[in-house]
Amino acid sequence: LPAGHADQPISQADAPPVTTFQSQGRSARAWKPKHVYFTAAAWEEEHGRRIAERLDGLDVSYEVMKANRLPKLGGSTTRETYRKAKNTLAIVNAPPSQFRLTPIPPSADWQFHLAKGCPAHCQYCYLAGSLPGAPVTRAYANLDQILENNAAYIDPNKDLTTFEASCYTDPLGIEHLTGSLARTISWFGDQPAARLRWVTKYDDVTPLLDLPHNGQTRCRISLNADWVTRRLEGGTADLDARLGAMRRLAEAGYRIGAVLAPLMPFENWQEDYADLLDRLRSTLDFPVDLTFELITHRFTPGSKEILLDWYPNTSLDFDEERRSKKLNKFGSHKFVYPREQMQELKGYFTDRIARDFPEAEVLYFT
Ligand code: SF4
Repeated sequence: LPAGHADQPISQADAPPVTTFQSQGRSARAWKPKHVYFTAAAWEEEHGRRIAERLDGLDVSYEVMKANRLPKLGGSTTRETYRKAKNTLAIVNAPPSQFRLTPIPPSADWQFHLAKGCPAHCQYCYLAGSLPGAPVTRAYANLDQILENNAAYIDPNKDLTTFEASCYTDPLGIEHLTGSLARTISWFGDQPAARLRWVTKYDDVTPLLDLPHNGQTRCRISLNADWVTRRLEGGTADLDARLGAMRRLAEAGYRIGAVLAPLMPFENWQEDYADLLDRLRSTLDFPVDLTFELITHRFTPGSKEILLDWYPNTSLDFDEERRSKKLNKFGSHKFVYPREQMQELKGYFTDRIARDFPEAEVLYFT
C-alpha cells in the first residue's frame, strides 16, 4: 500500500454507530462438505482439534487418516472429479515450502496461506491452472506456526509490511468450518507494523465484527456487475449481500476495499458497472477508509482448458482472437483485452471512482 494512505489512523469514532442496516441480498449458503479428512499430523495440531470441534458442532462428519496421505480423490471423468473435489475438505499441515513467503505485487509485500482451494464455482476461477490436481479445499491446521512465521517477515525498517491471505482461497467461504480467519485477524491486531489483507465473495462476516483487529486488517469484498455475478459466480453471496457485509465490516471499524474483478466489457457494460458503483456509494454513506483494486479478466491456455472442462456451458468469452497475448518473464503467456479496450476500461473506472469516491484510493488497475 502506498505510504501515507496506509498510515492514516483509523478509529472506531470514524464510523457511525452500528445501524440496523439490513442487507436485502441472498447470502451464500454455508458450505457443508460431504467428505472431510484430517491427516495424522493435522490431527495433532491444536488448531486441527479446534476445527474438529467446529465440525462436530455443525454435524459434519470426518475421517482421521493413519498417515499424512489423503485418499484418492479423483473420479472417472473430469466432471466427477470436479464434483467430488468441490465437496471435499482436507485438513492438512502447510508444507515447509510455505514457510518461505513470496512477494505478491501489486497487492501486498508477502503472501501467506490459510488454505488452498475454495468451495465456490466461479467460471473464471483464478485457481484453475495455478493449483495442480483436483480442486479439493485444503485448510491448514498448523496455523499457529504459519502466523509465527509471518513475524519474521515484518520489515523493521518500514512503517508497515503488508500480508495477503487470499491468493489461493476465499478465507470467509470456509471460516465457519475453520475459524482460521478470525484467529489471523486477531493475531495481526497485535502487530502494529503489519497489515493483513484478504478478500471474499461471501457475506457471513458476523464472527469478525467484534474481533480486536485494531485497524490492522483491510477486508476487501470482490464485487462485479450483476451481469457477471449472476452468470458466473456460483455458490457465492449475491451483490446486495456482499455490499451489506462490506457495510457491516466498515461499521465495525475495519478498513475496507472493493476489488472490482474480473472486469469485463460485456454488452452495455458501462450501465451495469454504473449501477454497481451507485449501489456501492449508497451502501457506504458514511466516512470509510476505502481502497479500490481494478482487475480485468484474463486467462492462460492452461486455465482455459481446465475451466472449459469444469464449465463446458459457460458464457464466459474465451476467444483468443478478441484478446492480446501478454508474455510474462517466465516465457509463458496470458490473454488480456486489447490495449484500446484496456484504456477504455481504465478511463471509465478511474474517472467514476474519482468523481463518486473522492475519499478512496485506487491501488492499481491491471
Ligand atoms: Fe475461485 Fe475465488 Fe470464485 Fe473461489 S471465490 S471459486 S477462489 S474465483
